Amino acid sequence: MARRFEGGRLVIASHNPGKVREIAELLAPFGVDVVSAAQLDLAEPEETGKTFLENALIKARAAAEASGLPALADDSGLEVSALGGEPGIYSARWAGPDKNFTAAMEKVEAALKGLDNRRANFTCALALCWPDGHVETFEGRIHGELVWPPRGERGFGYDPFFIPAGHVITFGEMDPAGKHAISHRADAFRKLVAACFSGR
Ligand code: IMP
Repeated sequence: MARRFEGGRLVIASHNPGKVREIAELLAPFGVDVVSAAQLDLAEPEETGKTFLENALIKARAAAEASGLPALADDSGLEVSALGGEPGIYSARWAGPDKNFTAAMEKVEAALKGLDNRRANFTCALALCWPDGHVETFEGRIHGELVWPPRGERGFGYDPFFIPAGHVITFGEMDPAGKHAISHRADAFRKLVAACFSGR
């Protein structure tokens, strides 16, 4: 049995405002009192893991220890089939220190030049960690295709580059509710909520 979140404040262990906004929206129905790591001025730990799950654990543990509150971390990224899963855990780093996702998408597109296989997926790992060290983890995924040029102004990161399977518009063109219904993060959150939040 997973440990349940019993209310009170929950730290979102992220300094990415796009992610914090999406996580707050996904948890809104459960009346969780959400505060971000940036609002608490928590240091960002180095993401030295080799998988999404390891990096989510590093971030959740660091935030729970530093704040004395339960902390939820998301580690996510774009995995491109023809590139052996790259950029993967380096999705944010491909955008460089100035977080230039136009440049990151151009880099992926250049690496795909001449290749027919444009399949990709987003993966999201979640780690919920309590100050006593207990942790629960979950993973979600969505498959799709990459489109060039990127389309749409919504969402964040690689959203304008990705058309989810069974759809004709990119995540960047989709309204937020549409994306939240199907995304990798929503998939992981459904599992998290069922295990740790539902019935509250
Ligand atoms: P993280 O903050 O280290 O987990 O890096 C995740 C990166 O993956 C983000 O900065 C985005 O570039 C990318 N990413 C993750 N989820 C999404 C999404 O829902 N849409 C677009 N890009 C995403």
